[in-house]
Formats: sequence, C-alpha cells, structure tokens
Amino acid sequence: MLNCRRRSTLLIWLVLIFPYGGALAEPAPTPKALFIIVDGIPADVIERVPTPAIDAIAAAGGYSRATVGGPIGKPGETPTISAPGYMGLVTGTWANKHNVYKNYGISPDYRYWNLFRLARTEKPELQLAIFSTWTDNRTILLGEGRAGAGKWRFDVVVDGLENDETRFPPQPLDAHIAEVDDAVSREAARVVESQGPDLSWVYLQYTDVVAHKYGDSVEFERAVMRMDERLGTIWSGVQARQEARDEDWLVIVTTDHGRDPITGRTHGSQSNRERTIWIATSSQRLTPDFYAMPEIVDIYPSIAMHLGITIPEKVARHLDGASFIQ
Ligand SMILES: [Zn+2]
Repeated sequence: MLNCRRRSTLLIWLVLIFPYGGALAEPAPTPKALFIIVDGIPADVIERVPTPAIDAIAAAGGYSRATVGGPIGKPGETPTISAPGYMGLVTGTWANKHNVYKNYGISPDYRYWNLFRLARTEKPELQLAIFSTWTDNRTILLGEGRAGAGKWRFDVVVDGLENDETRFPPQPLDAHIAEVDDAVSREAARVVESQGPDLSWVYLQYTDVVAHKYGDSVEFERAVMRMDERLGTIWSGVQARQEARDEDWLVIVTTDHGRDPITGRTHGSQSNRERTIWIATSSQRLTPDFYAMPEIVDIYPSIAMHLGITIPEKVARHLDGASFIQ
C-alpha cells in the first residue's frame, strides 16, 4: 500500500499528466476508412434494383443522390468518364486541376495531393491499402512510387488480376472481369477483417462492362445485384472487424458516373442521368449537406475528417469540395 505522502505525490503527477480529468476518459476508438467505387451505376438503377448490402450500409448511416461532372460551363466541368470521376474522389478536385479528362494516355497533375499521399504525409503510421480491378488506379492515377507524386507507397496492394491470364483467362464479353471483381472483393474482406488497414480503396468494374454491352437491361440489373453481393462480403468483413476491435469504421460506397438517358450504353456527357450518382455510407456523423446533393469531390475532405487528418493549407486551398461528416 502507498503511504500518504507517496499517494499525494502520485496524485500531483496524474494531474500534471492528465489535466481536466483526462485520465478517466475512455480512449476514442481508432478511426478507419474504406471507400468503394462500383463502376457506372446510375442512381435510378441502384434505387430500383434490390441491393440488400447497400441498404444495410445505408441503414447504419445514410444514402443520398450526389453529382459528378463539376460545374457545367465553368473551368471545372469534367467529363462523366471513369478515370476523371475517380480522380475527383481521390483528389477532391475537378479536371481543370487533376488534369484527367479520359481513361488512357493521361498525365495526372500530381501537385493536387491524393488522399493516400495526404495520409502518408500527415499520418505516416497509417496503413494504406488498395484492392482494385484496374491497375492504372494505383500506378497512374495515384502515381504510387513516382518521384513527381511524392514517392509514397501502399502497405497492401491487391491489383493486376485483370492482367493475370493464367488465373483469369479472357472470356467472351469480358466475363472474366466478374471473377476478378469476386477475387478483389473477397481479398478486401479478408484483409479488412484480419489487418484492418486505416485507409482503403476498393474498385470493382464489372457493372460498367455489362452496361456498355447491353445498356439498360436485365443483364445490367443482374450485374448490379451480383455487385451488391460483393459489397455484402466486404461489409461482413468490416462488421466482424468492428465487433472484435475498438475501431470506428467509415464505409463509403459510390459510383463514378451515371449513363446516357436513351440507351444506358454510354457516358461522358453532362446529361442529368450521367451526372447523377449516389453515395451510401455507414457514417453516423452526417451533416445536412449529405442530403443536399453532395458532389463526388466532397468525399475527400469527409474521409480526412473521419480519420482526424488536418489538411495542410497548401492542399486545402485547392479542394473543390467540403466535408459532409462532422
Ligand atoms: Zn466508369
């Protein structure tokens, strides 16, 4: 037992170390963020087709329609094309800054820091992961390892499977891409549950492949339902992780563009249907802005907010979005 004097000395030290009674406060759960882009699913389709996994994620937080494409007729107007859409999310800026107007033959402007460079710079201890059916997301859009892009690296990389012809031999109508999406989502779920990376990007492509072939169709709706099953696999991994750990998981699911209003086969223009996307999230700290047509560029500052990353002024001043998370 401590004698009286030593006890009072200890008390003084505790007050010095933990002023304002901080010693008694519960430590905050560790924030984790996972965003998922499922390719080319218009809001009207995601709302019409049964998607129990998206519903479950939204039941934990919220669902809202959102927009992509930037301000029409102004410098930030951005084609409703895949890579420009992903760049809007990962850099929080429109194409007049990130400089990606198409999918191939591009020169991203790496001066606009993507989320992973931001996280690696501001919180170097964070574990960064990518699970992707398109390798260019990491090697070109994010510029992983490139001198001009800050030379940062992921801790976990699951991509390149779409080029692995031994495991995934090319099939008619690119049906093997569905199997790549299956493998990518299974691996994402496994790694999330076992390692719990702090910031992860999952990218799944097959819905866009089907829509380019069939347009608005039963085939497309089936592909959306199968995509939702993959989201269910990932969501189960997140839930298992969260039940076992003191962690606060933010899951955001979105799409990169809608589709043309006539056939649903194409995209790239500024019609309402091509511009109208959607966001489902598990966040319980949504502001009213989330329900007032947020933009894809709002996701970047929202994730930074959840992770407790202070965005330095030299990055923040270029952002075209604002956080919808308190
Ligand atoms: Zn796309």
